[in-house]
Amino acid sequence: MNVQKLEQVDLPDPRTTTVFEMSGIPGISGKGGISYTCPSCQSVLLENVSASYMARIVFRCPACGKLSRMQTRKSPPMHVPSSMQTQ
Ligand SMILES: [Zn+2]
Repeated sequence: MNVQKLEQVDLPDPRTTTVFEMSGIPGISGKGGISYTCPSCQSVLLENVSASYMARIVFRCPACGKLSRMQTRKSPPMHVPSSMQTQ
């Protein structure tokens, strides 16, 4: 099984971030292929979910109370086509 660690969040902006209050461990269980653990206490918070699942939501660990979220992928750098160069 693919297990990854969630990215710890210290102070999410409540206007733009939804905090999911988990009531148990795992907080969410699905049918994807990746499990995510709490960065602080290693509890499995998301079990068998897909990589993009709830990527914008911050989770509160029911065991230790830390906030964490899935790491957001950085978009690849922009490439300027060489055909745009003037001759
Ligand atoms: Zn925890």
